[in-house]
Amino acid sequence: MNACGLDLNAIRFSYPDGRPVLGGLSLSLKPGSKLALVGANGSGKSTLLGLVAGLLQPQSGSIDIGGLTLCKRNLKEARQRIGFVFQDPDDQLFTGSVYDDVAFGPRNGGLDQAAVRERADAALSTVGIADLADRPPFRLSGGEKRMAAIATVLSMDPGLLVLDEPSAALDPKARRRLISLLSSLSQSMLIATHDLELALELCDETAILFGGAVEAAGRSKDLLADEGLLDRCGLEAPLSVRACPVCGKRAAR
Ligand code: ADP
Repeated sequence: MNACGLDLNAIRFSYPDGRPVLGGLSLSLKPGSKLALVGANGSGKSTLLGLVAGLLQPQSGSIDIGGLTLCKRNLKEARQRIGFVFQDPDDQLFTGSVYDDVAFGPRNGGLDQAAVRERADAALSTVGIADLADRPPFRLSGGEKRMAAIATVLSMDPGLLVLDEPSAALDPKARRRLISLLSSLSQSMLIATHDLELALELCDETAILFGGAVEAAGRSKDLLADEGLLDRCGLEAPLSVRACPVCGKRAAR
């Protein structure tokens, strides 16, 4: 599927307890681009991802995915455009083998056996774990599980990947492999993360959530170097862009 754009327009959302979480949030992602969604704990990142994935419904406002405006009637079609990668891979991997997990979506979508195999093999090889196809997911390392979870959504050929904290709990090598995989994929991406170095390296654009709205959105290298803005939003500039306390200069990127 071609990369999908994403438009959120004036989204208002409260949980059943009535406390407003998002109060008129608007956000836009161009087809093929990667957008980092950052914000302090409780700023609404997971809620926003849940809305995009159609797991939650806004009280008002609209969500448009690749030209399709999300509503109850077209939820199935909209979900086919999105690959949602959960923060915890154990929420995504539930069969007895990596292959079966990766083949689950295409099988469920009614593809014939040859097409299912083709999709699953392609997804496993894209994430570099073809050799793990027969392994039980619960025996994999954290990094391998993350790659398997990404393969389960790639096998569905989505146009937009939505990732919740993809680098959480990865060691430096596994994190590096993840960044290199994500930068090689052509899908549009919405990435909620506390890993601002990852945002800086992988995403041209960043949106900062604060107080139920987008406080700032723009080029990652501008926003993530703005220590005053980040501080106001309960965040800290990544080390690589902080000024040196001795000479006052920033490291060259
Ligand atoms: P983040 O992902 O940025 O940490 P969340 O979207 O998880 O933020 O939470 C945003 C706000 O919504 C928080 O105040 C949180 O307490 C509240 N919240 C999250 N989930 C629920 C829920 N199921 N019911 C009620 N409030 C919730």
